Amino acid sequence: MGKIHALSAQVSNQIAAGEVIERPASVVKELVENSLDAQATQIRVQVRDGGLSLISVSDNGDGIASEDVPLAFARHATSKIATGADLFKIGTLGFRGEALASIGAVAKVTMTTSTANGLGETAVVNGGELLKQEKSSQPKGTTITVKDLFYNTPARLKYMKSVQTELAHIADIVDRIALGHPDVAFSLVNDTKTMVATVGNDDWQQTIAAIYGNSVARSLLPIKGHTLDYQVQGFVAKPEVTRASRNFISLLINGRYIKNYALNKALIAGYGTKLMVGRYPVAVVSVHMDPLLVDVNVHPTKQEVRLSKENELTTLLTDLVAKQLGEQRLIPSALEN
Ligand code: ADP
Ligand code: MG
Repeated sequence: MGKIHALSAQVSNQIAAGEVIERPASVVKELVENSLDAQATQIRVQVRDGGLSLISVSDNGDGIASEDVPLAFARHATSKIATGADLFKIGTLGFRGEALASIGAVAKVTMTTSTANGLGETAVVNGGELLKQEKSSQPKGTTITVKDLFYNTPARLKYMKSVQTELAHIADIVDRIALGHPDVAFSLVNDTKTMVATVGNDDWQQTIAAIYGNSVARSLLPIKGHTLDYQVQGFVAKPEVTRASRNFISLLINGRYIKNYALNKALIAGYGTKLMVGRYPVAVVSVHMDPLLVDVNVHPTKQEVRLSKENELTTLLTDLVAKQLGEQRLIPSALEN
């Protein structure tokens, strides 16, 4: 008698959740990225207790059709890619079809969604089971409310840090996504306190000001340039305005906030000797490239990406920053204004 059996969808979703949903901030990231993929122009994030008791993300995006609602919570079900070839030209933030299945497996989720003002659906998923789906009336867009995250995975729940720490991770991810999408109005509300609010008028500098404050925004210098493969655009703060960690460097690749040590290092290298030891710049840099040149399917959270011509990009970044800071020295008055 054989001993091997396939795991139930519920168990395999719970396993996947372990990778995709590390902490409340991961839920926020996945839901906000879904809102962006749905063309939302307003995204509101509401949390309680560092997201552990409640996370709610509301958008005014495309919404989900009635027949798609159960599929939205099914694993490896997505509207964003269809064939293996699509994996090499990912144009959306999501594509793995894992987030909602994972979140639904480890929390109590309510979704209201509508593809046209008025008509809509309400669905309830608890611990991986679709308990209810019914017609309801609401404006176009989607609201996903996640309660009691990790209620059925006690080991993960135990691992959570303080409410303040989890909240800081949530604010960090909302900040960075908002920095990369000045055309979208974001808000993050903790209980009743607004922590982040951007207007979404497509003014990048104003968006940076809303997040990092006016003094940082005033010190920003634009960088812009390209090679055959990469287009780079962004802002770097003058070397006088520094921070004690690298956390104030935000890099976006084709609209996706990513972490990449080599690219961070390249930006910092552009400052040459202008930074004091142990001090790091504030920078927001967006890179666009042919999706063929970037593999975002390296890690379930998609925050790590692999670039096929990384050296070309690091050199470009260092050069652009160095050039901007050098020029500033030559004609200080013109740029001080
Ligand atoms: P993925 O984003 O990788 O496709 P998800 O599990 O995050 O997978 O979402 C599954 C599907 O549900 C998406 O492909 C999309 O069609 C739909 N969806 C999820 N969130 C939203 C949203 N806020 N607005 C519209 N559609 C959504
Ligand atoms: Mg997604």
